[in-house]
This record gives sequence, structure tokens and C-alpha cells, in this order.
Amino acid sequence: MTKPETSAAALAYQKECEADLEDAKALFASLEKLGGDKTVATALEPLNALGIILDKGLNVSGLMREVHPDASLRAVAETCEQDFNKLSTELSLSRPVFDAISAIAPAKEDAVTTRYLVKLLRDFRRAGVDKDQTTRDKIRAINEEIVKLGQEFEKNIREDVRSIKLAAATELGGLPQDYIDGHKPGADGKITVTTDYPDYIPFMSYAKSDPLRLALYKEFRRRGYPKNIEVLNALLGKRYELSRLLGYDNWAAYITEDKMIRTDKAARTFIDKVANVALPRAKKDYDELLAELKKTLPGAKSVGDWQKTFIEEQLKRDKYKVDSQALRPYFPYDAVKQGILDISAKLFGLSYKRVELPVWDPSVEAYEVMVGDTLYGTFFLDMHPRQGKYKHAAAFPMRTGVAGKQTPVGALVCNFPGGDGTPGLMEHDDVETFFHEFGHLLHHILGGRQRWIGISGFNVEWDFVETPSQLLEEWAWDSAVLRTFAKDAGGEPIPEALVKKMRAARDFGKGLQARHQMFYAMLSLAYYDGDPAGKDTTAILKELQQKYSPFAYVDDTFMQYSFGHLNGYTAMYYTYMWSLVIAKDLFSVFQKQGLLNPDPATRYRQMVLEPGGSEDAAALVKKFLGRDYSFDAFAAWLNAG
Ligand SMILES: [Zn+2]
Repeated sequence: MTKPETSAAALAYQKECEADLEDAKALFASLEKLGGDKTVATALEPLNALGIILDKGLNVSGLMREVHPDASLRAVAETCEQDFNKLSTELSLSRPVFDAISAIAPAKEDAVTTRYLVKLLRDFRRAGVDKDQTTRDKIRAINEEIVKLGQEFEKNIREDVRSIKLAAATELGGLPQDYIDGHKPGADGKITVTTDYPDYIPFMSYAKSDPLRLALYKEFRRRGYPKNIEVLNALLGKRYELSRLLGYDNWAAYITEDKMIRTDKAARTFIDKVANVALPRAKKDYDELLAELKKTLPGAKSVGDWQKTFIEEQLKRDKYKVDSQALRPYFPYDAVKQGILDISAKLFGLSYKRVELPVWDPSVEAYEVMVGDTLYGTFFLDMHPRQGKYKHAAAFPMRTGVAGKQTPVGALVCNFPGGDGTPGLMEHDDVETFFHEFGHLLHHILGGRQRWIGISGFNVEWDFVETPSQLLEEWAWDSAVLRTFAKDAGGEPIPEALVKKMRAARDFGKGLQARHQMFYAMLSLAYYDGDPAGKDTTAILKELQQKYSPFAYVDDTFMQYSFGHLNGYTAMYYTYMWSLVIAKDLFSVFQKQGLLNPDPATRYRQMVLEPGGSEDAAALVKKFLGRDYSFDAFAAWLNAG
């Protein structure tokens, strides 16, 4: 493959990136040469200033390589990200800077700064700053390799859009009319259905043809294959090597150490605890699914992974009288967007102002977040699929807020229908995802007012990161909330009775889902909990899927090669469930006091979101709840309904 011609926009971005890198290097050099007394003013403030440049360099390049429509700019962003990562690693291994920070007398500082100093020194040690020169050189080299491998892994997923060809429109049987209208035969007379979400998700939910669903499922689970075979093996290998150099048994032990969970052993225990609590429920759910499947496939002995969503839909229609297709007209993209903006504004005392700012694609919108007359932050919405763009949904930080220095900036990157002249009718799942990602964004913006960049925004313990987002998902299931924006073409709000049925249907399958999630969690842990040399990732996948998931492994699929979390989250997929346990506990307060009631929302904003990472997450949660968080609300939710 030839490299794309570098465009003018890419060159301009390259220049900006290089200038920032020069500024950062100059600051770093002066920090390393720092003489005289080491104080917050002389040492910590300059380190913070350096952190601000690194934060921008890493975040913006990380986003641009995932979303920019110009392939040459994506390539420039990749290099920029590598350079900034290299400098971050240099900094984390710098003895002179470590010594300067160690020399600050913490007793003279306020509680937040004192705590931050402890965290900084721990992070330096965890990076390997106190190892000998040879070891530090090795660490530096491995870190660079890991960044490149991670980028390649994600690129191979992003760029591998697969498809199946259908011979005739009749093969779209079961799908909604707006989907059929959007899938006309091409020049070859065939209809193409791709693995991109707006194609894939409805097809797996509604397409009547079992063989075609299986075919598309296989394509979906073959993304990144075979390109990522070597990339993943190398990635696992390098992380293992790095953890050994740093004095740990393996990567999973290393990466869990500074999280709420503390050890990989505790992560295993947690995964098995959830899997066990979910087991009776999962069995009951599974039997129901199988019985339903037998109605159309009388000889069926088990429910396949490619059948579960379709059969679940059928069951929802038969038993719970909920037809997901009938829900779609209530969720046109623009109305959902406006609804989420309005509700979050009211709850958290914010206002949003649409502004014109330079964007990377014409479809991207920019908003300012205001509290009264004060600018709290800025965000971008990049919500519809396009070629070469990130395939999943995520909130990307672009600039972390620092009190008195800069307001936070972030972006939501999703793949929802719409933006193409169609009404963009969303699945209810999409609506839930929108709330989820918006929860991250609010955390980033409201928490982004700390003095020190390393504890601002959602720089909290990683296993707490998914709590604010999963908490906000609950708003997608509340009738009073939905009725504020979910209206059909005639302006009729979604009937309360329908939401009630949706909620009953939601309860179905939660045992299965919890078990399937624990399969992913154990998989991410298992790939990283020892020397990967000679390990067969597909064999491990099969074994764990059999043990945890109710749905059997499908031959010739290799989901590990498109499991993007294996790069970003590495061994920590458990964090979703860990965060959910806390989210369910927090939600119990809103459940009692009302989801549109600004009182608990204000307390939550002040006690949990605004402090960012200035205190331990457990302490923030305790302030809000008035007690320690517990497993009870989660267990009760799993067994209820
Ligand atoms: Zn999330």
C-alpha cells in the first residue's frame, strides 16, 4: 500500500503538533535542570504546565487518528501521538524530575495537593523511574513499540469494514421499511449489508433469515483477522515483558494495582462473584430463549450467539408485547439529541450554546457548556458513520480542564443513524448509548476544574470511569424522561404503558448479559495474566466462552482481533461491571427522589462529578450515599423482575 499524499490540512496539523512538541521539550529540559528550592511554585507548577501540553498532544492526536476523514491527516496524527507518547515516557522515567517532585515538602501543602504529590510519586515509581539506566532504556523502547502496536491493532479494526451480499430485497425480510429503503441493490443487482453498526445492529435484531444473520455475524467477528493475529500476539508479549521489567508477575497484576480493585486476583474473584449471582437468572432466561427459538426452528438444541438478539426481539414481541421496530419512530436522531441536551441542562443546571468552531468533518457540531455566564467547557458531536472513522461509540477528551488555565474540551464519537437526510430512526439501544457517552462527557466537563491536570476531569481510578456513564443510562428507561422528547411523527409522546413494557422486557436477559460480559472480562484478564508466549488466544476464547457465556463459540470466528478494548482497557474489561455495581447503588438514590428532580442531581454533581480525581472515588461515593457503596443494589437489580 502506498502512503496517501499529505494534504495541506495534514501539513498544518503536523506543524501545530511539532510546535507543541518543541514547547513541551523545552519545558521538560528546564524542569530537568531545575536548581534551588523545590516547591509547588518552582517544581509542581511547571510540571503541570508541561502536563497541559502533553494532554493536548496526546488527546487530540488520539482522536484525529480515529476520526479525521483525511487519511493523510490520520497518518500525521499517528506519528504525532507516537512522539507525544515518547516524550511522556521520557518524563515518567526522568530521575531529575522525580527527585525535584520528591523534594517538595508536602506538609506545607493543602490536602488535595498533598494527595496529588503522593499519586505523582507513585506513578513515577510505577513507570520505572527508580530502575537502573539499562532497564529504563528497555522500558522506554518497549513503551514505544506498544504505542505503535496499539495503533495498528485499532487501525486494522477501523479499516476492516466487511459485508455480505443479498440476492434480492426479499432477503431483507423482517427489517423495518426505512432500513429496506436505505438498502437498494447496487450496480451488480445485489444488496450490500456491512458490519458498520447502523447496518449490523438492525440486521441482527430483525432479519428473518437465520443463515444470513449467521453469515453477517461471522463477518463481524472476523474483523481484524488475519491482520491482527501477529499484532495482538506482539501487543500481549510486549506488555508482559514490560510488567516483568517493572517487577510484577504479569501485566494484569501491574495494571490493577492502582485501581479500586487493587489486584488481578480480586478482579477474578469479582468476575466469578458476578457470574455466580447471575447464574440462576441466566439459566431461566436461556430456557425461555430456547423455547422461543424452537417455535421457528423446532429441532433447535441450543441458542446461537447470532440468534440471541433476534430471538430476544421475538420474545419481547410475544411475551412482553414490545416491538422494537415500533419504538424506532419515537427516536429520530435530532429529537433524541435535543432531548438529552435539554434534560441534562435542567438536571445539572447547565445551558448549551451551539457555536461555530473549526471541525474535522462538516457533519460535526460544536457546543459550549455554560453555568450562568461562566464557560465550563466545549464539546463536539461526531455522531454518524463514515469511511475510515472509529466504529464504536466513545467520549474522547481533547483538553482536560485546569482551574484558571483552561476549560475542558471533549468529543462524542458515535455511529448512529441520521445525518444523511433520513430521519435517522434510532434503536432504543442507541438512545441508551447516547446517554452513556453523555455521562462521560459531563464527568469530563464538570470535573474539569481542578488545579492539577492529573486529577482533573475523569482522571479518576479507571474502574470508576464507567460509573457516571452507566448511571446516566438509566435515564433512557424512565417514562417521564422519555416522554419529554420521544415523540412520533405526529408529535405523540411515547405511551407510558409502552415504556412500562420496555422495562419489563429489559429485565429479561440481564442474567445472560451479565454472564456474557463476564466472559469478556475474564478473557481480557486471561490474555494478560501471564507469559503469552505459546498461548493460543482462540483456544482461550473458546474455553472461557464455554465456561462463562451461555452462547457457544461459533467456528471460524475470532472476535479477539476486533476486541478494541484489548488495547485501551487491556486486562481491565471487568471495570464496566465494577462501575455498574457502584452505579446501581448511586441510582437507588435517584430512584427514590426522581430522575427529573434537580436536588439529587445537584448533590451528585457537587459531590461526585465536580471533585474529578481530587479524592478517592470510594470517598466521593460515600459522601453522596452517606455510607460505603455495596454490592446489594446490584444483586437486587439482577434478581428482580
Ligand atoms: Zn463508557
